[in-house]
Amino acid sequence: MYTAPFEYRRADTVEQAIGWLANDPENSKVLAGGHSLLPLMKLVLAQPQVLIDIGRITALKGIRIEGDDVQIGAFTTYREIVESPEVNEFCPLLAQAAQTVGDVQVRNRGTIGGSLCHADPQADMPAAVLALDAELLIEGPSGQRTQSIDGFFLAPFITSLAPGEILTAVKIPKLPAGAHTTYLKRPHPASGYPLVGVGIWLTVHDQVIDNGHIGITGIADLPFRARHLEDFLKGRLLDAATIAQAGPLAADDANLDDDPYKKNLLQVYVTRALSQFGESFAAKGLNGKS
Ligand SMILES: Cc1cc2nc3c(=O)[nH]c(=O)nc-3n(C[C@H](O)[C@H](O)[C@H](O)COP(=O)(O)OP(=O)(O)OC[C@H]3O[C@@H](n4cnc5c(N)ncnc54)[C@H](O)[C@@H]3O)c2cc1C
Repeated sequence: MYTAPFEYRRADTVEQAIGWLANDPENSKVLAGGHSLLPLMKLVLAQPQVLIDIGRITALKGIRIEGDDVQIGAFTTYREIVESPEVNEFCPLLAQAAQTVGDVQVRNRGTIGGSLCHADPQADMPAAVLALDAELLIEGPSGQRTQSIDGFFLAPFITSLAPGEILTAVKIPKLPAGAHTTYLKRPHPASGYPLVGVGIWLTVHDQVIDNGHIGITGIADLPFRARHLEDFLKGRLLDAATIAQAGPLAADDANLDDDPYKKNLLQVYVTRALSQFGESFAAKGLNGKS
């Protein structure tokens, strides 16, 4: 398969990339790792006339601590996230999700910015990024703006990015000390993309859940926060009775009534993910104390 002809430009700065995009925002595309965009172009499902490569822009790379946040440049690869000491210390859920993406080649090239901007409802990272309450830093012809991850995904493959805008970084608040995290996914047997992916962080004291967020991907038209389930869990013992009641509540924030298979799959994976916490407490002898 061959792409339609296009012009390739490699930007050195964000300003240069935004300037080039502004020339013809409807027919230009940012190129990051290329692991979603190039397959689409080869299938002729996308035919940008200009590709603007952001891979040499140093301002878009790297992970650093900014006060109470971990700031991750949009052109940071999955592998860099998996190996980052800052991510593993302050928001390990992100590394746990990144570790499950594709294979080693995909994780070496694919970027967090590319994953979020592509907005594939079957992508892994949105579950973690939603649970972690990320804020997105965006730049475009009218300057800089921030956008909560809540509200960024508008429809499959559509985000709130305006034509000509670039995602520059993802800001993640550090998790509370002692937070427990897990990302559990049911990979599609052929593609490896998630049929369902559940990202959870919880804080637990004396076996009682005092806070936690749950992000879900793969199963609905959009990734979402399971807010009904989060509210249910707060103040409850993390035990078998709570976990048994919790699973069915995960579907309350998604419209899956006409798809009993997906509804059941979601319930099973939420139950398994929550059970992992109980098992890991038992294995470490923590007895639920963090
Ligand atoms: C074999 C294979 C297996 C895969 N398995 C999985 C999997 O298991 N789970 C999973 O989640 N994904 C999977 N993927 C997809 C992979 O994660 C992609 O890398 C990712 O979706 C896109 O990131 P990218 O950096 O390659 O972006 P690109 O493909 O370069 O870009 C994707 C889109 O985002 C836009 N874009 C990129 N960066 C920016 C930016 N900073 N600002 C504005 N727009 C931007 C581009 O214009 C394009 O429209 C797989 C891909 C392949 C090829």
